[in-house]
Amino acid sequence: MTLGAALPGLKGLILQTAWAAGDGEETATPEIEAQEELEQDLEGVDYLCKFCRRKITTASERIVVNGQHTHMCANPYGLLFEVGCFARASGCLTTGVPTLEFTWFPGYAWSIALCASCANHMGWHYTAQPPSEFYGLILDHLVQGSNSG
Ligand SMILES: [Zn+2]
Repeated sequence: MTLGAALPGLKGLILQTAWAAGDGEETATPEIEAQEELEQDLEGVDYLCKFCRRKITTASERIVVNGQHTHMCANPYGLLFEVGCFARASGCLTTGVPTLEFTWFPGYAWSIALCASCANHMGWHYTAQPPSEFYGLILDHLVQGSNSG
């Protein structure tokens, strides 16, 4: 119940339409692919915390989960969130005990990922067994910056 208090709107966020597309065989865990299908013109681009400009991750950490890098999610108020999947997010701190409850990615337990500098909510850290992990980050909470200059 503390999770519910800390994360208003979380339940609504499970209305992730992309995940429900497949029918027929049950897939235990999402498929995680390399970023080869992602746009290459973002190479060298950093993703910064929108609130304090700390570097959270980079474009080279982008991955494809269940066929998509970005996943659209709606909260109970009808707002859409665009969540991007990243292999790593060195600028995040994770908090809370991982839970499978309401997870968007079957088999992956989530915990909360916060900006390590300002503690704003950046997204979620997903972990599974056998060991596998990725971050789902709220793209609207990130801004792009270049690390080349
Ligand atoms: Zn921040």
